[in-house]
Amino acid sequence: MPRTDRALVLFSGGQDSTTCLAWALARYPHVETIGFAYGQRHAIELTCREPIRQALACDALRDDHMVDLTATIGGLGQTAMTADIEIAMTSEGLPNTFVPGRNLLFLTCAAALAWRRGLRRIVLGVCETDYSGYPDCRDDTIKAMQLALNLGMQRRFVLETPLMWRDKAATWALAAALGGQTLVDIVREHSHSCYLGNRTLRHDWGQGCGTCPACELRANGWNRWREQNGENA
Ligand code: ZN
Repeated sequence: MPRTDRALVLFSGGQDSTTCLAWALARYPHVETIGFAYGQRHAIELTCREPIRQALACDALRDDHMVDLTATIGGLGQTAMTADIEIAMTSEGLPNTFVPGRNLLFLTCAAALAWRRGLRRIVLGVCETDYSGYPDCRDDTIKAMQLALNLGMQRRFVLETPLMWRDKAATWALAAALGGQTLVDIVREHSHSCYLGNRTLRHDWGQGCGTCPACELRANGWNRWREQNGENA
């Protein structure tokens, strides 16, 4: 029965959400995507969305929705994700790329859209295992949001996080399991992770500056996955 559900994927154009989109397309007969502009300085990620959607085109892949939260999030103040501030750790032990409330707002918007469009599964690529320690990526946060959204909208949404307990090497492995080398190549070529928006330097694992935290995570995951497969990184 779950396989007949319709799904909405939070799709940014990054590695994680691209893998989640392929995951949802393998499960559900009707999958829509939603993306958010919020003044992110690596907005180049958003331009990667359409080529990825085209590469994954199939009967199940339906409408795309873009929501502009630039004024909303920008109006609440700057972070290293939305302004030209050097990436660093704060005294609270959080990276200054953390945008407070962002994922909570995204989920609220996604659920409001899902409510209107009759979509029950909401899929997002957050991960507790191998990430920067953002509190709004944690499993308990997502479970609490599911409860709040279901109570507040009187629905039975299911928030799904296929990457929650996977590290970046396992995320590459999941792409390989879902779509073989073809999907790995789509993720590698078209998805974007770099915080600095670099898409001119080319590496085995894709394009990016190679040194920002997002590039390091992506590259390390790629190298570990290749080593696990007994291949040269
Ligand atoms: Zn980078």
